[in-house]
Amino acid sequence: MNVFVTGGAGYIGSVCVEELLNAGHAVTVFDNLSEGHRSAVDPRAAFVPGDLRERAAVLRAVQETKAEAIIHFAAFALVGESMTNPTKYFRNNVANGLNLLEAAAEAGVRKFVFSSTCATYGPPDRVPMTEDLPQRPINPYGESKLMFEKMLQWFQQIHGLDFVAFRYFNAAGASERFGEHHRIETHLIPNVLKVALGQAPQCEIYGTDYPTPDGTCIRDYIHIADLAQAHILALQPDKKGFFNLGNGEGYSVREVIRMCEKVSGKRITAIEKPRRPGDPPRLVAAADRAFNELGWRPRYPKLEDIVTTAYRWHVKHPNGYPD
Ligand code: UDP
Repeated sequence: MNVFVTGGAGYIGSVCVEELLNAGHAVTVFDNLSEGHRSAVDPRAAFVPGDLRERAAVLRAVQETKAEAIIHFAAFALVGESMTNPTKYFRNNVANGLNLLEAAAEAGVRKFVFSSTCATYGPPDRVPMTEDLPQRPINPYGESKLMFEKMLQWFQQIHGLDFVAFRYFNAAGASERFGEHHRIETHLIPNVLKVALGQAPQCEIYGTDYPTPDGTCIRDYIHIADLAQAHILALQPDKKGFFNLGNGEGYSVREVIRMCEKVSGKRITAIEKPRRPGDPPRLVAAADRAFNELGWRPRYPKLEDIVTTAYRWHVKHPNGYPD
């Protein structure tokens, strides 16, 4: 299949592109490199530099590459930042994303696969979380992704554009070649591993007074290669709808730090800080729908394996990507 991947130079996109190519698909990456890296694009893929703001350029790229499916990763994804700069999130994730949706409908693309998030739920009434829980986001990031989910439903109904939207829990880990390199790193696992690698003196724990057993936030970490596999399954013509992607196991911030110590064999100093605005206390997936309807089977469900792949990548690429 001809697959058009926005954000294919980013963290999750780069690994998905690698897996798509391994599965025999032809891939075009469309990315403005604002967050991504040129060297994170698998050399077997075509690369089109471009920005989703440019409506005509987006349509041209989709048409010229004869895209049969679009996988849309390109978006801003930081909860904390969205609480200080909501405009950035609504502008890019909603308004610029709409240019892509419009192009998909106009070019007659058959399938649209969207990176959504568990942040669309807000604090859940119960965990593990199923897809039918109410969606009440508590940060502009989650709200922007929920708005896009709603647009997808209308585009499917009105233009016949089939979609799969994946609500990711916490993406982590690395493949052999591609890993996590954000220019400003805010995510837990890479920041904790920086201490193990001697690149930072200490890491920070945002909030120790949450209603969880050790007082720190609980998240469900999922390996990016497993996320990537779900996207490949989603390209099958009969697959549609919303799917959670997580392992169904929650780990607290302190447990993640301990796992990083175990994997690296290094002592990691952590200092306690106030809560980060916008963080729900506990997010854990029920991914039964992806299991049953897509036949999705995670290969790296254990946190230890996830952290090990991340650690290996950072040891091999201490400065991340060169560009
Ligand atoms: N977190 C932390 N210290 C850090 C980075 C994150 O304590 O240096 C916490 C954060 O508050 C959240 C969890 O770790 O409760 C996961 O945060 P991350 O930014 O990795 O992912 P998110 O859940 O926001 O998508």
